[in-house]
Amino acid sequence: MRSVTARVPAKINLCLGVGPRRADGFHPLATVYQAVDLCDEVRATAVDDDGVTVTVHLDADRSRESGLVPVDADNLAVRAALALREAAGTTDGAALSIRKSIPVMGGMAGGSADAAAALVACDALWGLATPRSELEAIAATLGSDVPFLLHGGTALGGGRGEEVSPVLARGRFHWVFAIAGQGLSTAEVYARFDRLHGEDVAEPEVPTALLSALAAGDAPRLGRALTNDLQDPALSLRPELADVFEVAEDASALGTLVSGSGPTVMVLAEDGQHAAEIARALLASGTCADAVQADAPEHGAHLV
Ligand code: ATP
Repeated sequence: MRSVTARVPAKINLCLGVGPRRADGFHPLATVYQAVDLCDEVRATAVDDDGVTVTVHLDADRSRESGLVPVDADNLAVRAALALREAAGTTDGAALSIRKSIPVMGGMAGGSADAAAALVACDALWGLATPRSELEAIAATLGSDVPFLLHGGTALGGGRGEEVSPVLARGRFHWVFAIAGQGLSTAEVYARFDRLHGEDVAEPEVPTALLSALAAGDAPRLGRALTNDLQDPALSLRPELADVFEVAEDASALGTLVSGSGPTVMVLAEDGQHAAEIARALLASGTCADAVQADAPEHGAHLV
């Protein structure tokens, strides 16, 4: 049985500037993405018919999230495979199997990551050799974060996030992710953003202090420059996340920020040892369901 596996990182937003809601319902974003070594794997296996199916495997201690991930055509990995197939004009099928480590509804783009991995895996399984620019165009139709998850590393995101361009970043960064027991709906967080801000929203910008911290590979400066316009809306929906911030601060974190639309909170550490200390403090505090260490930047979706 022929099968190929693609590995894909989670994303974080080092800054997430959100502009006024556009006529199409999307918000313009000015963001700096970073891919972190907290990875899902998507295996694509050849089948005899034209069906595209999916199964999802979560670690035993993550079973609370099972049931949140669709196992039909709503799964973003299936949608990606079907979009690729349509673009290529083939009728091959595939059995997709997702091993999930990225928290579900955690603001780390787990579904989009699986879509990017499915594009890469199915492209190889079906022998399509789709040009990179075409894969990126298909990715953009699947979701705002999908092009970045193909790209990986550290990158600027414009438009609604799908316009990705590289940014200069030196060194490795050490993160801890405080994972909540229950996810948050991205749509709900944006709706709260609109309610909190009304029409009074400026065009979003990427802070120059953040770009210069990345160019210098300066973690303490990066920690001070982290910003997220969705943090207040997420905190207003989940006030208890403030307790995570307090624990991280007590553990001398370099910076703490809600990841994307939350509720995952990302904590920047000085090095691996400091990250382990922060993770221990978070777990002991009982303010989150899990605390996971991951370094960055990571490669985008790639075959393993
Ligand atoms: P984002 O940061 O992109 O807003 P998120 O990380 O908060 O997303 P996801 O885990 O991507 O959230 O899940 C968002 C929605 O997508 C959920 O309602 C989930 O049911 C659906 N979904 C579809 N396919 C997948 C998939 N492969 N993995 C996880 N969720 C998926």
